[in-house]
Amino acid sequence: MNPFNRRELLQAAGFVLAESRLEPAPAPASAYDWIRNARTLIAEAYNPPFYPALDYKPEKAVSIARELNADSLRYPAASYYAYFPTKSGYPVHPELKADPMRETLELCRQAGLKTVAYVPLNHPFMDTEANDPRYAGWSKKFADGRPMTTEHYGYAEYFEGCLNSPVRDVIRALVREVLDYPFDVMYFDGPYQGMQNSKNYCHCSYCEAAYQKEFGRPVPNQEEKISREDEIQYTNWMAQDVAIAFLREIREMIRRTRDVPVLYNDTSLLRRREWRSHAIPVVDGFMFEAAETPEEKLFNLQLGQSTGKVTWTYVGTHTQYNREHLKDDRVRGWYSYPVESQELLLDGATALAAGVGLVYWGLSRFFYQPQPPLGYPSGRYVKEIFDFQQKNDVLLRSVRSRPQAGILVGTQTIDWYSGKHFVGKAYENAAHGAYQALKANGFDSEPFLDWQMSPEMLARYQMIYAPDAVCLSDAQCAMLAQYVRSGGKLLATHLTSVADEYGRVRKNFGLADVLGAEFLSPEPVEIPDLYLKLAGGEEIPQDPQVFRFRATSGDVLAETIDRGHRANLGPAIVKRPYGKGETIYIGSSLEAVYEETRMQPLRSFLGGLVTPWLAARRSYQIEDQPGLMPHFMASDNVLLLHLLADTGNKNKHLRVREEFLPVTDVQVRIRVPEGRTARAVSLLREGARLPSSVRGGWIDVSVGRVLIHEAVKVDLA
Ligand SMILES: [Zn+2]
Repeated sequence: MNPFNRRELLQAAGFVLAESRLEPAPAPASAYDWIRNARTLIAEAYNPPFYPALDYKPEKAVSIARELNADSLRYPAASYYAYFPTKSGYPVHPELKADPMRETLELCRQAGLKTVAYVPLNHPFMDTEANDPRYAGWSKKFADGRPMTTEHYGYAEYFEGCLNSPVRDVIRALVREVLDYPFDVMYFDGPYQGMQNSKNYCHCSYCEAAYQKEFGRPVPNQEEKISREDEIQYTNWMAQDVAIAFLREIREMIRRTRDVPVLYNDTSLLRRREWRSHAIPVVDGFMFEAAETPEEKLFNLQLGQSTGKVTWTYVGTHTQYNREHLKDDRVRGWYSYPVESQELLLDGATALAAGVGLVYWGLSRFFYQPQPPLGYPSGRYVKEIFDFQQKNDVLLRSVRSRPQAGILVGTQTIDWYSGKHFVGKAYENAAHGAYQALKANGFDSEPFLDWQMSPEMLARYQMIYAPDAVCLSDAQCAMLAQYVRSGGKLLATHLTSVADEYGRVRKNFGLADVLGAEFLSPEPVEIPDLYLKLAGGEEIPQDPQVFRFRATSGDVLAETIDRGHRANLGPAIVKRPYGKGETIYIGSSLEAVYEETRMQPLRSFLGGLVTPWLAARRSYQIEDQPGLMPHFMASDNVLLLHLLADTGNKNKHLRVREEFLPVTDVQVRIRVPEGRTARAVSLLREGARLPSSVRGGWIDVSVGRVLIHEAVKVDLA
């Protein structure tokens, strides 16, 4: 089973030590600084080598981390079982001997690796076959008393735990014990309140008692028709008073005991009514695990950074591959084998461009292999990504994105809107389309969460793009109105502000006055083959789902033409000045159509709408090329234009292995800030200095070849 012997392991580690002696980067002073650009190897324990059989060997894990040039290791204090001798009551792996957690931490200390504790907060762990009498009292219950269960990885079935039950004390005790070990960071997966049944209200005796005490009534029964008000009450109670309150309690306990950074898994940030998705203010940072495309990843990471918290992301797509032919998709196409290819490089480059912490998933890929990690392409790719980050650590830490536009991401819409034409699973096409259309026109934007909106946040951006932000509160509408009144630019589309923050539909847009529009009906219509008729007479594709309105003020820039019925459906786009600012309202989700089609006329049209607002302060210009995604970062002394070339052979099957082709002769222009000059222009990966001259405040650069990633670096004088 164990193909390595100890001597080979040491040899491998020694070889790597010699080879990875790169330019030394000064180590960040504290764990709070370090977490910004961590490069961590995950030891995951929902699968081999921890579960079901426990094959884990601390020496091998640390050796693999070193060979990959990780600077840290994440150890699973627990998954379905605990992997250290705990007295908390959490079930311990039956094969556990001695204390591999203690041993791992000691080996990491000797190797100069930082350590992250993985602690699940009510991630389902109670095996339904375990015959543990305590589990009946700890599990979530349906109204008829049946326990809720979940699958996870295709190995077994588990009871879902309830955070109001005594399982809460068990988890608290577990965290307290883990904190006694010298981990640098505590990372939490959760808090969960169920997994497959997370949307089902819990009727356990603890929840019923707590609900009765708080509201004087039983937990609403979802089997019966329940009012929107009841849904709001239960949802806010479970999210704020139970789940987030638990994370806050844990965070404060850590602060009082041994203060280390606390991060948590918030991959579910944009998932409907996820209890923990508002917990960001409680922690120091969070993890967006994996994304399906580089664009989605960059979007997510920028969304993370808009919160001001540290963001981590996986390099790679963690457990699963495409797995389409499997009957049970919980089995996930799981392998403890180095399955990944060059897509790792693109995933890593995207994370590097965003300037976040990197986390490779994981140890299991190399643990059982006969050769050390660098014997496999994926091991070499991970090391290349980690090497690049180490080599450029100071630079990557110093730069930040410079978004011109803010994209209002409608999480309230995801949680609460239930219009007849609303397709929840495709709703994010609107925000991603806005992001893509701006990028394709050379404008960087930053998505931000609607519930975090504040006048200060809005003031960061030259324009706000509100792509179908249906659910906005009166206060949020007032904030947006004030933003425009004082000079901001607002592009709002489709059903933006049609409902309040809980999806209760208004009689008119909440932003009617600002947008200069009144809707004819609160539901859009869907008709095939619609066109936008522009002022000059040109017709370009319109969203087949249009929201009909009457323009009350401003200029109508386009009308909707129904070709099949030879009909004109009235105004489609209206533009007007408002206070010192300006608004454009589009009565359709044109950006979603752009996301779904990438049609050039839509790209140009949307670009043309915002160019008058943004062009004067743009940071760079680049000709749009299929697959090439720019991302601009800057500090006081450096301008850095990343170029990500997503030109792989991924087809409509997501999560298949990919190889890539280079993009050649990329012409870019970078603006030199007023009063500054360029000291040097170079390519960050290739290392070559580029000939360049500043003309009219712009540097013209020709990049010969971009294979997956390159970055143009301008050192300012
Ligand atoms: Zn309960």
